[in-house]
Amino acid sequence: MGLNDINRRIAAAEQAAGRAPGSVTLIAVSKVQPPERVEAVLASGHAVFGENYVQEAQAKWPDWRMRFPDVSVHMIGPLQSNKAKVAVGLFDAIHTLDRMTLARKLAAQLADQACLPQLFVQVNTGDEPQKAGILVDEVPGFLRSCTELGLSPEGLMCIPPEGKDPTPHFRLLRRLGQDNGLSLLSMGMSADFEIAIAEGATHVRVGSAIFGARDYG
Ligand SMILES: *Cc1c(COP(=O)(O)O)cnc(C)c1O
Repeated sequence: MGLNDINRRIAAAEQAAGRAPGSVTLIAVSKVQPPERVEAVLASGHAVFGENYVQEAQAKWPDWRMRFPDVSVHMIGPLQSNKAKVAVGLFDAIHTLDRMTLARKLAAQLADQACLPQLFVQVNTGDEPQKAGILVDEVPGFLRSCTELGLSPEGLMCIPPEGKDPTPHFRLLRRLGQDNGLSLLSMGMSADFEIAIAEGATHVRVGSAIFGARDYG
């Protein structure tokens, strides 16, 4: 557990998969964690973080960004369309572009912003009715619509069904990326990031294995 251990495990997984050292970006998922745990990781020099909630990120990151100017913050949680504008100002990347209404809101921001955050399209690889994300068959059409709106997603993201082998989901995401010319793959969490790296992840989202368990109480 802890940042050093996760960095070592990522390096080992890169090597085992024959991938270049440093080809995987570790997103330290700091949602709900006590500030002192996050500050310790910031102070150690780690610079890429993930958050799930706009309001929480808004309360925490402006101050930390002043003290740690190299930081980038990735939105990995569901994004309400009415928060798109705030999110564009707050995040360096959004991993949860998952529907047309959000795509339109983000495109509307293009008029006033020099650039948008880096975008990942969330794919519902398990075809789970309760889960966000574009259905596999609809990914090419959704990407076409994004292009028409002036958006340029660079990657795909998935959260495999809980309690199942994630490997086929990671593989499916990789194939979808290849078929659609997207080079970035956001996949893998504390329990399965090494498997994701073996399957081609470029971004892993690891929270509890770095910071400890989250206390939602
Ligand atoms: C919370 C969260 C993570 C991190 O989960 P851990 O199991 O703590 O590593 C990764 N991805 C998403 C989308 C999350 O919501």
